[in-house]
Amino acid sequence: MTAQLIDGNALSRQLRADVATRVSALKAKGITPGLAVILVGEDPGSQVYVRNKVKACEDTGMHSVLEKYEASLSEGDLLARIRALNEDPTIHGILVQMPLPKHIDPDRVIETIASSKDVDGYSVQSAGELMAGLPGFKSCTPYGCMKMLESIGYDLKGKHAVVIGRSNTVGKPMALMLLQKNATVTVCHSGTKDLKAMTLQADVIVAAVGKRNVLTADMVKPGAVVLDVGMNRNDEGKLCGDVDFAGVKEVAGHITPVPGGVGPMTITMLMVNTLESAERL
Ligand code: NAP
Repeated sequence: MTAQLIDGNALSRQLRADVATRVSALKAKGITPGLAVILVGEDPGSQVYVRNKVKACEDTGMHSVLEKYEASLSEGDLLARIRALNEDPTIHGILVQMPLPKHIDPDRVIETIASSKDVDGYSVQSAGELMAGLPGFKSCTPYGCMKMLESIGYDLKGKHAVVIGRSNTVGKPMALMLLQKNATVTVCHSGTKDLKAMTLQADVIVAAVGKRNVLTADMVKPGAVVLDVGMNRNDEGKLCGDVDFAGVKEVAGHITPVPGGVGPMTITMLMVNTLESAERL
């Protein structure tokens, strides 16, 4: 069996075209959705992510501001900058690229962003809204995964979903979103005793660990849907996920590639969140 590919680039193109149409409609009313992206330090990965996010804004007709600071920026100065953006009426979303230099507390930074502009969905308020089933900003990566499931018409009701990873930004919100769609959800982590026993029961597997080959073909039930969030480098230095793609695609029913899977969807959902923030005005 060869799995059907869920193409994150193609789906992103479709969703971003819709975003662009809605941006035009807002602009006609005199509102241009605006995203401020703050990068502190020189992390090479972060530079690429930030560039892609700004480009996505331009492509969809949104306004974007990229602020780059030296790694030596003080926490106080960063927080002051965020507070100024909170008050800026041309900005509807604020994103501070992680990771931050060690001397800056990421939680304090996230909680300083106005909840009305928390388009990454990382704040305690956004997490609480998700848990309570209230409308709010959804964390972009799991939100993108849900859109991928939706794109194949997958009905989660009564299905068993296994999420590998329990970070606040991916694993936990992913589990809550799957639960909201009536899946039975198991969350695995580094303390899980027998990961394979869990994944073999799964109709849907989301791998969000950050380690190559966490999920191999022998761990997947035939026909399962496999979403690979991981971003790692293989021995040749090429981008790869957590899933042994070559092996798992022979067993799974659907699978996302890396690159070209969840990655572009994360940026797309950031555009959606920023647009919706502006639409709320
Ligand atoms: P994280 O905060 O490091 O969390 C990793 C999780 O994996 C933790 O919960 C950890 O368990 C668990 N884990 C570690 N080893 C494990 C094992 N052997 N078996 C089962 N679980 C294990 O990472 P993250 O921020 O969630 O990101 C995960 C991956 O997704 C990374 O590769 C990251 O780069 C990627 N990512 C991609 C996108 C995208 O757009 N494609 C977006 C965000 C993140 P404990 O909690 O017990 O430590």
